[in-house]
This record gives sequence, structure tokens and C-alpha cells, in this order.
Amino acid sequence: MHELAVTNRILRTVLSHARRNRAHRVHRVLLVVSEIADLQPLWLQHYFDKLAAGTRAEGARLEVERVAPEFVCEDCRGRFAMLMSEVDRIACPACGSRRCGMVGTADYTVEEIEVS
Ligand SMILES: [Zn+2]
Repeated sequence: MHELAVTNRILRTVLSHARRNRAHRVHRVLLVVSEIADLQPLWLQHYFDKLAAGTRAEGARLEVERVAPEFVCEDCRGRFAMLMSEVDRIACPACGSRRCGMVGTADYTVEEIEVS
């Protein structure tokens, strides 16, 4: 139940933001999640609803935006994003090198919080 721990951290971030801004309610939370992160949006919302009950974030809607992981070229140090479905054909867009490594972590960020 990886999502439960993650949701807990998200909720704490959201609530401290709401407190700092003296917000009464949190309406929407935009999460940017790496494509390689093993997080299911449905489970995130499910746990969020449970954990946020009775807090300012009760009933808030989670929006999850999936982003392609980032890679770095070992020859020219250029950085670029690439979908996991294309990763077997990986080549640096700047120099064409195939010696590329992933730099993005399988993680998420709380990008936006809509409060009132
Ligand atoms: Zn390169």
C-alpha cells in the first residue's frame, strides 16, 4: 500500500499550505507524477478522501498529471524527456548518442493547490 504513505505526505503538504494561506477549504490539488512512479490515481483519491475527512482538505479533488521521465546524455550532458514506451529507441536529440541515463526519480510533486 505504497499510495497510503504517499497520500499521507501529500495531505500534510496540502494542509500546511492551507494553514499558511489562512485558507478555509482546499478544493483542488494538482499532482505532477512521473510516468515511472508506481502510483494509481484512483487509489490516491481513495486514500485522500479517507485521510482528509474532518480537515480543511475534505472533499478536495486530486488531479494527476503524468509526465515523461527525464534523461541525461552522457556524451553532451544534454537533458531531455522521453516516454517509457519509446525508451528502447533512446537517443540524445542533441548529439544522437545512445549512452543516456535516467535522471528523473519515480516521484511526484504537489504542483498547485486551489484554496478559498
Ligand atoms: Zn548528447
